[in-house]
Amino acid sequence: MSRPPAESRITTTSTVVDAEVLAHGQLGWEGEFNGTRFTRLQDVALSDTPRVAVKLAFVMLDRRPVVHGTLSTEVELVCQRCMGAMRYPLHEQFELMLIGSNSELDQVPEPYEPWLSNVQRMNVFDLIEEQLLLALPLIAKHEDEEECVRIAPGLLSNEPADEAVERQQEAESQSDAVQRPFGNLRDLLRK
Ligand SMILES: [Zn+2]
Repeated sequence: MSRPPAESRITTTSTVVDAEVLAHGQLGWEGEFNGTRFTRLQDVALSDTPRVAVKLAFVMLDRRPVVHGTLSTEVELVCQRCMGAMRYPLHEQFELMLIGSNSELDQVPEPYEPWLSNVQRMNVFDLIEEQLLLALPLIAKHEDEEECVRIAPGLLSNEPADEAVERQQEAESQSDAVQRPFGNLRDLLRK
Protein backbone atom coordinates (compact mmCIF):
# COMPACT_ATOMS: atom_id res chain seq x y z
CA MET A 1 0.00 0.00 0.00
CA SER A 2 1.36 3.40 -0.94
CA ARG A 3 1.35 6.43 1.22
CA PRO A 4 2.58 9.97 0.68
CA PRO A 5 5.94 10.60 2.31
CA ALA A 6 5.61 12.23 5.71
CA GLU A 7 7.74 15.11 4.58
CA SER A 8 8.52 15.79 0.97
CA ARG A 9 11.90 17.19 0.18
CA ILE A 10 12.22 19.63 -2.64
CA THR A 11 14.64 18.25 -5.17
CA THR A 12 14.27 20.53 -8.13
CA THR A 13 12.55 23.66 -9.33
CA SER A 14 12.46 22.46 -12.94
CA THR A 15 8.98 21.80 -14.30
CA VAL A 16 10.25 18.72 -16.14
CA VAL A 17 11.01 15.95 -13.68
CA ASP A 18 12.00 12.32 -13.72
CA ALA A 19 8.97 10.88 -11.95
CA GLU A 20 10.64 7.49 -11.53
CA VAL A 21 13.63 8.93 -9.70
CA LEU A 22 11.38 11.05 -7.50
CA ALA A 23 9.10 8.12 -6.74
CA HIS A 24 11.95 5.72 -5.93
CA GLY A 25 13.33 8.31 -3.53
CA GLN A 26 9.86 9.15 -2.15
CA LEU A 27 10.56 12.75 -3.00
CA GLY A 28 8.30 15.67 -3.56
CA TRP A 29 7.95 18.64 -5.82
CA GLU A 30 6.71 21.88 -4.39
CA GLY A 31 6.30 25.24 -6.01
CA GLU A 32 4.22 28.26 -6.88
CA PHE A 33 3.19 29.45 -10.30
CA ASN A 34 1.85 32.77 -11.43
CA GLY A 35 -1.71 31.83 -12.39
CA THR A 36 -1.55 33.85 -15.61
CA ARG A 37 0.92 31.29 -17.00
CA PHE A 38 -1.93 28.78 -17.32
CA THR A 39 -3.38 30.09 -20.56
CA ARG A 40 -6.14 27.50 -20.75
CA LEU A 41 -7.26 28.51 -17.25
CA GLN A 42 -7.11 32.19 -18.18
CA ASP A 43 -9.42 31.50 -21.11
CA VAL A 44 -12.23 30.75 -18.66
CA ALA A 45 -11.18 33.04 -15.82
CA LEU A 46 -12.59 36.56 -15.62
CA SER A 47 -9.42 38.12 -14.26
CA ASP A 48 -5.78 37.18 -13.74
CA THR A 49 -5.55 34.16 -11.48
CA PRO A 50 -3.24 34.79 -8.52
CA ARG A 51 -0.51 32.38 -7.47
CA VAL A 52 -1.18 28.68 -7.70
CA ALA A 53 0.46 26.73 -4.87
CA VAL A 54 1.36 23.15 -5.74
CA LYS A 55 2.59 20.17 -3.74
CA LEU A 56 3.32 16.84 -5.34
CA ALA A 57 4.50 13.75 -3.48
CA PHE A 58 5.89 10.82 -5.49
CA VAL A 59 5.93 7.17 -4.45
CA MET A 60 6.14 3.85 -6.26
CA LEU A 61 3.14 1.52 -6.40
CA ASP A 62 3.08 -1.72 -8.42
CA ARG A 63 6.35 -0.61 -10.05
CA ARG A 64 4.75 2.58 -11.31
CA PRO A 65 5.16 6.12 -9.99
CA VAL A 66 2.12 7.62 -8.36
CA VAL A 67 1.57 11.26 -7.50
CA HIS A 68 -0.38 12.59 -4.55
CA GLY A 69 -1.01 16.23 -5.36
CA THR A 70 -2.65 19.31 -3.91
CA LEU A 71 -3.36 22.61 -5.62
CA SER A 72 -4.70 25.81 -4.22
CA THR A 73 -5.56 29.16 -5.70
CA GLU A 74 -8.59 31.36 -6.28
CA VAL A 75 -10.14 31.81 -9.71
CA GLU A 76 -12.59 34.53 -10.72
CA LEU A 77 -15.43 33.05 -12.78
CA VAL A 78 -18.74 34.21 -14.25
CA CYS A 79 -21.77 33.12 -12.22
CA GLN A 80 -24.16 31.44 -14.64
CA ARG A 81 -27.20 32.61 -12.66
CA CYS A 82 -26.58 36.35 -12.48
CA MET A 83 -23.68 36.64 -14.97
CA GLY A 84 -21.77 38.53 -12.29
CA ALA A 85 -18.22 37.89 -11.16
CA MET A 86 -17.58 35.35 -8.43
CA ARG A 87 -14.44 34.26 -6.60
CA TYR A 88 -14.00 30.54 -6.61
CA PRO A 89 -11.52 29.21 -4.03
CA LEU A 90 -9.92 26.18 -5.51
CA HIS A 91 -8.36 23.55 -3.25
CA GLU A 92 -7.91 20.35 -5.19
CA GLN A 93 -6.41 17.01 -4.26
CA PHE A 94 -5.64 14.32 -6.78
CA GLU A 95 -4.09 10.86 -6.94
CA LEU A 96 -2.52 9.91 -10.23
CA MET A 97 -0.68 6.86 -11.50
CA LEU A 98 1.74 7.59 -14.30
CA ILE A 99 1.59 5.35 -17.33
CA GLY A 100 3.69 5.42 -20.46
CA SER A 101 1.02 4.27 -22.89
CA ASN A 102 -2.71 3.74 -23.22
CA SER A 103 -2.21 -0.04 -23.14
CA GLU A 104 -1.48 0.28 -19.40
CA LEU A 105 -4.81 1.98 -18.68
CA ASP A 106 -6.44 -1.14 -17.23
CA GLN A 107 -3.56 -1.59 -14.80
CA VAL A 108 -4.36 1.57 -12.86
CA PRO A 109 -5.99 0.61 -9.55
CA GLU A 110 -8.58 2.65 -7.65
CA PRO A 111 -8.51 5.38 -6.50
CA TYR A 112 -5.79 6.48 -8.92
CA GLU A 113 -6.51 8.33 -12.13
CA PRO A 114 -4.22 7.47 -15.01
CA TRP A 115 -1.85 10.16 -16.22
CA LEU A 116 -0.25 9.50 -19.57
CA SER A 117 3.26 10.88 -19.62
CA ASN A 118 6.85 10.27 -20.46
CA VAL A 119 7.67 9.05 -16.97
CA GLN A 120 11.33 10.06 -17.13
CA ARG A 121 10.52 13.50 -18.45
CA MET A 122 7.21 14.38 -16.90
CA ASN A 123 6.00 17.93 -17.41
CA VAL A 124 4.67 19.09 -14.04
CA PHE A 125 3.25 22.26 -15.56
CA ASP A 126 0.99 20.39 -18.01
CA LEU A 127 -0.25 18.14 -15.24
CA ILE A 128 -1.09 21.09 -13.01
CA GLU A 129 -2.90 22.99 -15.75
CA GLU A 130 -5.02 19.93 -16.53
CA GLN A 131 -5.86 19.37 -12.86
CA LEU A 132 -6.79 23.05 -12.44
CA LEU A 133 -9.23 22.80 -15.34
CA LEU A 134 -10.70 19.58 -13.98
CA ALA A 135 -11.20 21.25 -10.60
CA LEU A 136 -13.37 24.04 -12.01
CA PRO A 137 -17.12 23.68 -11.52
CA LEU A 138 -19.08 22.59 -14.60
CA ILE A 139 -21.51 25.43 -14.01
CA ALA A 140 -20.21 28.20 -11.78
CA LYS A 141 -22.84 29.74 -9.49
CA HIS A 142 -22.70 31.93 -6.42
CA GLU A 143 -23.22 29.66 -3.46
CA ASP A 144 -25.62 32.17 -1.93
CA GLU A 145 -28.50 33.12 -4.24
CA GLU A 146 -28.80 36.46 -2.44
CA GLU A 147 -25.43 37.39 -3.87
CA CYS A 148 -26.90 36.96 -7.37
CA VAL A 149 -29.89 39.13 -6.48
CA ARG A 150 -27.54 41.80 -5.15
CA ILE A 151 -25.66 41.82 -8.48
CA ALA A 152 -28.73 41.50 -10.72
CA PRO A 153 -31.63 42.93 -8.67
CA GLY A 154 -34.40 42.06 -11.17
CA LEU A 155 -33.29 38.44 -11.35
CA LEU A 156 -35.72 36.81 -8.94
CA SER A 157 -38.22 39.57 -8.20
CA ASN A 158 -40.36 39.44 -11.36
CA GLU A 159 -39.77 36.28 -13.26
CA PRO A 160 -36.89 33.85 -12.88
CA ALA A 161 -34.58 34.19 -15.87
CA ASP A 162 -34.80 30.43 -16.49
CA GLU A 163 -38.58 30.58 -16.90
CA ALA A 164 -38.40 33.52 -19.26
CA VAL A 165 -35.90 31.63 -21.39
CA GLU A 166 -38.04 28.50 -21.28
CA ARG A 167 -41.13 30.37 -22.41
CA GLN A 168 -39.19 31.97 -25.24
CA GLN A 169 -37.92 28.57 -26.36
CA GLU A 170 -41.43 27.16 -26.17
CA ALA A 171 -42.74 29.99 -28.33
CA GLU A 172 -39.96 29.39 -30.83
CA SER A 173 -40.60 25.66 -31.03
CA GLN A 174 -44.31 26.33 -31.55
CA SER A 175 -43.59 28.64 -34.43
CA ASP A 176 -41.37 25.90 -35.84
CA ALA A 177 -44.28 23.51 -35.60
CA VAL A 178 -46.48 25.92 -37.49
CA GLN A 179 -43.92 26.30 -40.23
CA ARG A 180 -43.10 22.64 -40.48
CA PRO A 181 -46.20 21.55 -42.50
CA PHE A 182 -45.23 24.00 -45.21
CA GLY A 183 -41.68 22.73 -45.10
CA ASN A 184 -42.96 19.19 -45.59
CA LEU A 185 -45.21 20.29 -48.39
CA ARG A 186 -42.25 21.83 -50.18
CA ASP A 187 -40.39 18.55 -49.76
CA LEU A 188 -43.33 16.67 -51.22
CA LEU A 189 -43.59 19.00 -54.18
CA ARG A 190 -39.91 18.49 -54.94
CA LYS A 191 -40.37 14.74 -55.28
ZN1 LIG B 1 -24.62 34.88 -9.12
